[in-house]
Amino acid sequence: MSRIDDIVGQCRDQVEDASLNACRQWKGRRAGNKVLGYFPVYFPVEIAHAAGMLPIGIFGGGNRVVLKRADTHMYSFMCSICKSTLEQGLSGRFDFLDVFIGTPICDAARHMPGLMERNVPGLLTDILYLPANLRTGLAVPYLQREFGRLRVLVETEVGHAVGDEQIRDSIRTYNQSRRLVRRLYEMRRASPWLVSAVECYVLVRAGMLMPVEEHLPLLREFIALASEREARPLDKIRVVFEGGFCEQPPIDFLRAIEEACYVVDDDLAVGARLFSGDVPEDGDPILNLAASYCNGSTYSSVQHDMRRLKSDGLMAKYRSSNAEAIVLSPAKFCEPGLDDQVHHLKRAEKEGVSCLQMEFQERMKDFDNVRTQTETFAEAILFYSQEQRPDPVAAPVAEITTTEAAR
Ligand code: SF4
Repeated sequence: MSRIDDIVGQCRDQVEDASLNACRQWKGRRAGNKVLGYFPVYFPVEIAHAAGMLPIGIFGGGNRVVLKRADTHMYSFMCSICKSTLEQGLSGRFDFLDVFIGTPICDAARHMPGLMERNVPGLLTDILYLPANLRTGLAVPYLQREFGRLRVLVETEVGHAVGDEQIRDSIRTYNQSRRLVRRLYEMRRASPWLVSAVECYVLVRAGMLMPVEEHLPLLREFIALASEREARPLDKIRVVFEGGFCEQPPIDFLRAIEEACYVVDDDLAVGARLFSGDVPEDGDPILNLAASYCNGSTYSSVQHDMRRLKSDGLMAKYRSSNAEAIVLSPAKFCEPGLDDQVHHLKRAEKEGVSCLQMEFQERMKDFDNVRTQTETFAEAILFYSQEQRPDPVAAPVAEITTTEAAR
């Protein structure tokens, strides 16, 4: 097995482990280690990291968890991530978790902290209230106070104060990670034959489960190795995948799409790369995090910013990645995703952009239908628009040097 396959395999194993054994092992490394789990989409991980905690993204059990008890606590029409997350709690898989933070991003998610508190003994839960109206000048000071409240919560949990300089250090560390992830996405947009969507996805998701200090070298090494790959571009259509901001599709769902298309950009696990740039490293760190969320975020289906349309964001992503089509794929029963699908479809139709619509569920295990639909869609584009298609071989190839990638 090559080193690059080894890195991807290691990340995939972590992402698909519904029992989160690597996180449990981290907690066992040293007495006093604490783990904070956050439900998607966004959490200011720097605050927990600065306190010495391991912040981890809780994304449900994927298709590795059998629902035995969670179904009895929830309506049948609720999305899968909520059910499988609760099942993880009910089945003891969160026995190592100290804190669970949820955000009221939708009707389903707003109940998660309460459900977890009642059903997972000893778990401290709380709700992070992100501002609903980002247009008002009060959003930043409000969020600054809310992040300040979180800071007190983690200070109480770890039993010591968390200074501004510690949070600034964490911001510097996570900025390095943000830069590398941006670099990974640039590589994919420029040369998708060098980095697949699945590789990119498992690398980013694994970073939401392991200490950032362990994730950074993996990212650097992967980028350096991928940039030297001798892969040849294939005549596949280039698509943007949209719909994976909260519940995540199974990895084999993405792989089935990739058999017929280059997935050149996406919104998968977007909370890990919500900010378009770095968080400022000087000054009040809590204010910087709040201002970055309110004024420096990319769009997502659960953030309502009346200053800009989400369909503008999707179209900008489509154009900047030189894509030929969009795969609109919200999670089943996901209200925010399905709402946005309507707007995105209208916009795409107006602008003459081809869209493939496919719902997914994290619990899916059969991908033949996904494969058939994607192949048919890709062939239709290849057949009907051959003359207008950009030459994939002539698409700009990123000039990535090992030194640059290792930065
Ligand atoms: S997948 Fe959609 S409906 Fe479910 S918790 Fe996430 S945002 Fe809410």
